[in-house]
Amino acid sequence: MNVVTADDRREALRTLALKKVGLNTATRDFNLFRIVSLAQRAVGADAARFSIVQDGVMCSICETPEAKDCHVENTRDGLHVLDTGKPYVNQSLTAKPEAEVSGQMLLGQPLEAYCVVPVFSPDRQPIGALSLFSNKQHDAESAESSLELLNIYVRLIEDSLLLRSMSVRDVLTNLFNRRYFEEQARIEWRRAMRMQVPLSFALLDVDHFKLFNDSAGHMAGDAALAAVADVLTQTCSRAGDVVSRFGGEEFSLMLPMTSGKSALVVTEKIRSALNDAGIAHPGTKGRLTLSCGISTARTIEELESGSIDSFLENADRALYAAKGAGRNCSRHFQDIIEEN
Ligand code: GH3
Ligand code: MG
Ligand code: MG
Repeated sequence: MNVVTADDRREALRTLALKKVGLNTATRDFNLFRIVSLAQRAVGADAARFSIVQDGVMCSICETPEAKDCHVENTRDGLHVLDTGKPYVNQSLTAKPEAEVSGQMLLGQPLEAYCVVPVFSPDRQPIGALSLFSNKQHDAESAESSLELLNIYVRLIEDSLLLRSMSVRDVLTNLFNRRYFEEQARIEWRRAMRMQVPLSFALLDVDHFKLFNDSAGHMAGDAALAAVADVLTQTCSRAGDVVSRFGGEEFSLMLPMTSGKSALVVTEKIRSALNDAGIAHPGTKGRLTLSCGISTARTIEELESGSIDSFLENADRALYAAKGAGRNCSRHFQDIIEEN
């Protein structure tokens, strides 16, 4: 039986938070880290953290080492920043104690002052916060000028997130692009080796899509691809799964800790959800469908002797077999090998 611990849930939420903004899940974003460190220095604080909210929980994305024992973001006042879109400042915990942060330590001394400043997405939704921690009391005037400075660093974080998102997302579908897929595949490949767990890849290709464009026009084709992408993101929602637009009318999935059998369940679920979406194909007079090819690195030996490219190639061969079998179906590379 798999027991899901609180740590597992926190880790899954953090993975989702990182994915939401297109950051890699196992490597630190140095640009963000530099901004957070500089913000700390600029206002003379002792520690700093940038967090992103996921399912109502603020997840630490990057922090200076001194911040490790300070947790103010998931308190009532910390979370309230996301509702109001306005910073929260406590200039002195001695003068204004708060039960939820009592006993928190910073550099071996009790935390004395902190502030939480909201960070916004490009559409001006609060998505997280920059927090600063200090062992010294702050008077109203210095808190005011600190907030003015922090707004500049918040802007830098927002710009950095926007640029990152633009570099890893596909404009038409808003799915991750091939660059993010490959970056994340390298991370998951190393994790699969370390933990000795399976890693599955799938390539999904829209059937008779040239005919779709020829019948309905390129613009309608674009809209259909965006609709397929929505089906994919809704169906593949596990924290570590990565869905990307691989190129043209081809999509790729990476399913960590997923056996070939389970990967097949996922692609069948996608085919069924796409059928339910009922996107009309004006060329075939039926519904828009996908063919899927899967490959799985099952053992440490297979991971050691293969590569991401070789497994993607195998998935492509399985996809080719699915097309040959009449389209609108899934094939696993292993089954093709065994059949021949
Ligand atoms: P099959 O079932 O064998 O995959 O047939 P197909 O017609 O889907 O395959 P083919 O490779 O012949 O054609 C792919 C088509 O996908 C042709 C190309 O114009 C179209 N396509 C690729 N990218 C885009 C895009 O961004 N927008 C639109 N509208 N069409 C695209
Ligand atoms: Mg194709
Ligand atoms: Mg196609």
